[in-house]
Amino acid sequence: MDLSFTQAEQDFQQEVRDFLATSLPHDLSEKVRLNKRLGKDDYQRWHAILNDKGWLAPGWPVEHGGAGWSPVQKHIFEDEACLAHAPRTVPFGITMLAPVLLAFGTEAQVARYLPRILSGEDWWCQGYSEPGAGSDLASLKTRAVRDGDHYIVNGQKTWTTLGQHANKIFCLVRTDPDAKKQEGISFLLIDMDTPGVTLRPITLIDGQPEVNEVFFDDVRVPAENLVGEENKGWTYAKYLLTHERTNIAGVGFSNAALATVKRVASEVTSGGKPLAQNPFFAARLAQVEIDLMAMATTNLRILAAAEAGRAPGPESSMLKLKGTIIRQELTSLLRRALGPHALPHQPDFLDGGDNAETLGHEQAPGAAANYFNMRKLSIFGGSNEIQRTIVAKSVLGG
Ligand SMILES: Cc1cc2nc3c(=O)[nH]c(=O)nc-3n(C[C@H](O)[C@H](O)[C@H](O)COP(=O)(O)OP(=O)(O)OC[C@H]3O[C@@H](n4cnc5c(N)ncnc54)[C@H](O)[C@@H]3O)c2cc1C
Repeated sequence: MDLSFTQAEQDFQQEVRDFLATSLPHDLSEKVRLNKRLGKDDYQRWHAILNDKGWLAPGWPVEHGGAGWSPVQKHIFEDEACLAHAPRTVPFGITMLAPVLLAFGTEAQVARYLPRILSGEDWWCQGYSEPGAGSDLASLKTRAVRDGDHYIVNGQKTWTTLGQHANKIFCLVRTDPDAKKQEGISFLLIDMDTPGVTLRPITLIDGQPEVNEVFFDDVRVPAENLVGEENKGWTYAKYLLTHERTNIAGVGFSNAALATVKRVASEVTSGGKPLAQNPFFAARLAQVEIDLMAMATTNLRILAAAEAGRAPGPESSMLKLKGTIIRQELTSLLRRALGPHALPHQPDFLDGGDNAETLGHEQAPGAAANYFNMRKLSIFGGSNEIQRTIVAKSVLGG
């Protein structure tokens, strides 16, 4: 198996580097580099730049405005974008909903929604989880009852990421309460401004209202907003999750974070020497770098298999597990390197409303919030305990 990039892939990598060097706005990359908060405008500005280049939707077919990239090209772009401190592209419309619509939606749904995702007119959020239905998602209770040419929706979703920016939500709803729990679920598209939809922010430990609760109280949804067939939503939900879990390893994020930790460790001193020369710190840094190299190789192996047409199976659980452990360890090491300056939580700095002089290293003010925020990685997209069970059952046997 050859894990090195072909000449064409290396040329593509150079093209991506050139594009990022000329088109990524400096103020945006500075925000990302220093772990400041990105607002809706920031994400939309970057989406528009990518869309102008034809690179906003890497996996979509070219005839729908996508880039039509291979898995390796997607990987190269993500890696380079992280190293250049580009904002992430918001996945809900682009990598989650669009593939479902292309596979199961009507022609009218594809024609209506895909261009609006690209233009930024629609910001989608994901209404899967409910109180009591996270890991055990099929237990969801939000009800949709057919009433003529509408569904009437009642219930509650939770942990809805960036729902405060969204004008649309794709939801799993129960349409047959008597069927086996996976069989009575449908996939419904709902306008957030429909009467009866209420959003309530949940403030996370880092002080950010990144997630929300969404309540549905007799919400009338046109029946044409059903995706695919009634009661077949679980199939579409699982299909979506395979797309949600692409790039789950986050190799690019970890490469960028590792470079930052190394730089900080060479710039701050401990006992009169650069921290990088402290044997305890150096050993911890070396261990995470080795883990990252091993995971990056596994990731390339899986990409090579995907390129050859083989769908990743339990390997994606291994990548999720290792990838999130490595990313969390890197945020922990960065705080260790920054010392006491990394302890205070500084919301004004994060929101850009601060003009006080930074105490300690430039990475210090954003470090605490980022450390806390990254605890989420081992919970969302399927918690690490669940991934361990999948690995135990599918790889180790049991
Ligand atoms: C920051 C963040 C953003 C999110 N964004 C979204 C979003 O946009 N849209 C959306 O729909 N959802 C979202 N989620 C929800 C996320 O998918 C769930 O939090 C996740 O699936 C876990 O479900 P839960 O929170 O209900 O925990 P639970 O399922 O109640 O689990 C609690 C604990 O028990 C463990 N556990 C549960 N079952 C088992 C088992 N069988 N074996 C071993 N251990 C088990 C879990 O691993 C976990 O540690 C988000 C979550 C977070 C934290």
